[in-house]
Amino acid sequence: MKENIHPDFERFVSRQSKEELLGQKGVVLWMYGLSGSGKSTIATQVEKSLRAQNRLTVVLDGDNLRSGLNSDLGFTDEDRNENVRRTAEVAKIFANQGLITIVSVITPLRRFRDLARNVIGADFREVYVHANFETCAQRDPKGLYQKVASGKVASFTGKDSGFEQPESCDLFLDTEQQSVDDSAQAVIQLIDAITQD
Ligand code: ADP
Repeated sequence: MKENIHPDFERFVSRQSKEELLGQKGVVLWMYGLSGSGKSTIATQVEKSLRAQNRLTVVLDGDNLRSGLNSDLGFTDEDRNENVRRTAEVAKIFANQGLITIVSVITPLRRFRDLARNVIGADFREVYVHANFETCAQRDPKGLYQKVASGKVASFTGKDSGFEQPESCDLFLDTEQQSVDDSAQAVIQLIDAITQD
């Protein structure tokens, strides 16, 4: 800790008070997987369903963050690590305000997921959104796989930059088998299991 920095997390309105205000508990759902696996699509569906139940959510989407907070970062392992660290720190702040916080970031290496878990602590839940490279390439929602095939994207996850399958996770979503609705429902069940008193 820097010598002249004096953090005091207790001086502001408490998490408990904000959770009472919102009538919910804060949590972080860390959704990760290949580009095109379905993270943003499922996150959107989860948010819509929870909004209909008057529950407050926030989505921290990797591409959105890379257009602002993380716009100085690229795709080296070092930069991806920093991308995850910053995202985790922001997610932690939101969860501490009682928000249901959904992260949608590729997070390709186990050590990045471990970093996020270490930053966030007990509120962290790991949701692996799975589809294989070929399926993602067929979906290609952002046209990235086509660019990769013609050599226009460097350090692309699953191609020239690695993706490590998890050894375990809190929720496994196989988007080649499950519909968007089924996946969203499974995420909401996980949230309900954590956030119900
Ligand atoms: P990511 O956020 O992981 O990069 P996106 O959600 O942006 O991925 O894109 C996933 C694409 O796959 C979307 O075009 C979505 O409509 C499509 N898709 C097809 N089937 C599914 C499914 N079962 N679950 C999630 N997405 C699916």
